[in-house]
Amino acid sequence: MRASPLSFCRANSPAARYNLGMAWKCDYCHTPIAPGAHPFTLRLELFPAVEPSLQISEQEMEASGNGQDLRELLRIMEEMSDEEVARQEKIVYFSHKFTLCPACRHTMAGALERLLPDAGQS
Ligand SMILES: [Zn+2]
Repeated sequence: MRASPLSFCRANSPAARYNLGMAWKCDYCHTPIAPGAHPFTLRLELFPAVEPSLQISEQEMEASGNGQDLRELLRIMEEMSDEEVARQEKIVYFSHKFTLCPACRHTMAGALERLLPDAGQS
């Protein structure tokens, strides 16, 4: 039987990899995670609370008419180098996923707690 795309995704999910006893490596300290030790996932996402494109009012849409803004945007993007585009995209949406060993999970959890606005005031 051929594997469906869904079962392929499942087989590559962290849980499936873990159950299959596949090797894990900590993204932070680069140490192989011992079989039986539980790997952790740290997911970071940073993006605007309101999508800039959604801030355009209906009136502005009507005033700009026939896709002029879009053409202007395309022109600007064409003039940008690939690095510039990548940099701009990072400003709009940054995300990263780390697999962590239990020790690094502990370190990162402590570091993240210190980032909280009220850290150190209790
Ligand atoms: Zn680690």
